[in-house]
Amino acid sequence: MTRAWVEIDLGALTRNAARIAAAARVPLLPMIKADAYGLGAVGVARALESTNPWGYGVGTIEEGEELRAAGITRPILVLTPILPETFDAVRAAQLRPALGDRDAIAAWGPSGAPWHLSIDTGMNRAGVPWRDMERVRDLVAAHPPEGAFTHFHSVLKDRASVALQSDRFRAALAQLPARPALLHAESSAAVEHNEAGSTWDLVRPGIFLYGVGTAGGLAPEPVVAVRARIVELRQIRDGDTVSYGATWPPPGSHPEDWPRRIATLPLGYADGYRRALGNRGWALLHGRRVPVAGAVTMDMTMLDVTDVPCHVGDVVTLMGADGGDVLTVQDVARFGHLSPYELLTELHSRLPRLYREHA
Ligand SMILES: *Cc1c(COP(=O)(O)O)cnc(C)c1O
Repeated sequence: MTRAWVEIDLGALTRNAARIAAAARVPLLPMIKADAYGLGAVGVARALESTNPWGYGVGTIEEGEELRAAGITRPILVLTPILPETFDAVRAAQLRPALGDRDAIAAWGPSGAPWHLSIDTGMNRAGVPWRDMERVRDLVAAHPPEGAFTHFHSVLKDRASVALQSDRFRAALAQLPARPALLHAESSAAVEHNEAGSTWDLVRPGIFLYGVGTAGGLAPEPVVAVRARIVELRQIRDGDTVSYGATWPPPGSHPEDWPRRIATLPLGYADGYRRALGNRGWALLHGRRVPVAGAVTMDMTMLDVTDVPCHVGDVVTLMGADGGDVLTVQDVARFGHLSPYELLTELHSRLPRLYREHA
């Protein structure tokens, strides 16, 4: 690895899956949509096979096809609504659609292939509205779904909303001619905050698997590291500035000791090291924290490494552990006022993924 890369600790990933499955006490439907939140869906799914999940959740047909091409044979549920003109492709790849539209159910049902009924209990994004179940009752009777599910909108912000949405889900299910075998509702945060275990038959964790907890009772192990090598080093003098817009040093501030030593990393916002981290991010160099100096550019990012002896070729950790310190996904997200979900899913494919199997 000579430029910049993402490391994925598959041992930590599978331990996180085991941990959340033990808390939920039901099988997992791990969400590996968006290329497993940027970590690589095929590598993640292959590792999770050992934890014996019920199946996998994806966002698009192409994501399901990629898993099939990689030899994954478990059920794959496409959770985002899809149009009936795509159903031949869905059946060809033996994917299960999540359906919440009457016409779509009418088009899929007669094939007899499995599907899940999507029920909207307040997100107003996808699914049959919980108060309108009579709209689909006849179709559900004629073509019973394998599963039914809903999605919570405010697990962390408003516990009462989870109870309300759960009640709506139960009321909607009571309107169906029969109970589908597989009911599911809980994402990572909902499992983390439900000490009693899942109320339903499957749980749908995503971000917890990838090392991001929500400070519930369960703490996941870090899974992702982003690293890059120093490609240039320079001394700059009082009056010099760094990067576009000359925002470093910040106007009016004077680093105490000149000259400063600036390291250049060959990664930038085109790799997903976000512009929001300019002058705000921190990295680990030989186990010590060093700040981002100036604007993050498309292909390069500069650090003020004055306090840490280093050489061209040395590895810098932009996310993950180094020495005794660690920059978690949440830490980096906080530096840039970003969402951890966005930070992970926007790690671009230009960064090679390196999978570590050990420990
Ligand atoms: C993404 C997603 C999840 C997983 O959410 P996390 O917060 O990452 O655990 C679960 N269910 C649905 C419908 C989703 O879209």
